[in-house]
Amino acid sequence: MPARPAPRLRADVSQLPRYVPGRAAPSDRVDKLSSNENPYPPLPSVVAVMREELERVNRYPDPANGALVTELSEALAVPPEHLVPGTGSLGVTRDLLRAAAGEGDEVLFAWRSFEAYPQLAWANGATAVQVPLREERHDLEAMADAVTDRTRVIIVCNPNNPTGTAVHRDELEHLLDRVPGDVLVVLDEAYREFVDDPDVPDGIEVYRERPNVAVLRTFSKAYGLARLRVGYAVAHPPVAAALRACAVPFGVSGLAQAAARASLNAESELLERVRTLVDERARVTRTLRAAGWTVPDSQANFVWSRLGSQARAFTDACEAAGIMVRPFGDEGVRITIGTPEANDRLLKIASDWRA
Ligand code: PMP
Repeated sequence: MPARPAPRLRADVSQLPRYVPGRAAPSDRVDKLSSNENPYPPLPSVVAVMREELERVNRYPDPANGALVTELSEALAVPPEHLVPGTGSLGVTRDLLRAAAGEGDEVLFAWRSFEAYPQLAWANGATAVQVPLREERHDLEAMADAVTDRTRVIIVCNPNNPTGTAVHRDELEHLLDRVPGDVLVVLDEAYREFVDDPDVPDGIEVYRERPNVAVLRTFSKAYGLARLRVGYAVAHPPVAAALRACAVPFGVSGLAQAAARASLNAESELLERVRTLVDERARVTRTLRAAGWTVPDSQANFVWSRLGSQARAFTDACEAAGIMVRPFGDEGVRITIGTPEANDRLLKIASDWRA
């Protein structure tokens, strides 16, 4: 065959930062504490709704996510025009960046934070500006100092993945007072339901007073629907309309819409599970600290420890015992809170483990 020219792609595509996903579990017998998933399977009532929905997969889903928007609007007490569901909160993040930050613009966020931010910013042609954490927490003062004329979006991951630490109300209000009103501030609240510290603001209360604030939430974590890919933004109408304009049509499957609605219906049962995970988070933190580990206070469904060059060795020790945790280079390790039994197994290894 004669040689054919390869398609011409963007020159910088091969240089883009990649999102390195956690590995899939090799079998169901493994305790997967590596991807911040909910360890509990969907409730029978949610599965029943999905079964019914399976009968309709020959038809496209509602592209406006109408029923889901109506029910979210009631649950959160926000107007329906302020709600934009998307393909996981990751899909919504991508659309927000498309809407607000292109070539030559800057997207500012803390580092370390959620690994998808650099990839999504760069893939969109914008420049990612990363402001180091201070003692494992967002340094909002340094972030405000890093704002330039080119800054179009600031992402505050609250609680922060992977450290679990959360920004307090007064700190966030101070940042918002300092940042120009034409910069979009995105509060990524993927782990909001796990917050039990009253000083951590509810982004939806913050957004009500601030037209430049958008909030991201997801059904992947507390609601246990990670595989279905459904999340949403809450934002004022100009931002929400821009988001809809940038979204992939039919981006939320019918199964995902139905399961998300059924989960809202079963919220009290699901939040009961969240309470168990929050209690377990306290137990895991306490036990790790008693074993000599340094673990910052977490407000999410995972804990972080800066093990440095030992992160890989600890991950390997866990893996040898059938437990998956998530190492981040030679910085640290993130451990998702699982069922009490899985946490017991993890804690046994962590307590015995010596660097
Ligand atoms: N934001 C943060 C901070 C996350 O940690 C994650 C998942 N790891 C997401 C967003 C993505 O969530 P979703 O499944 O809704 O795309």
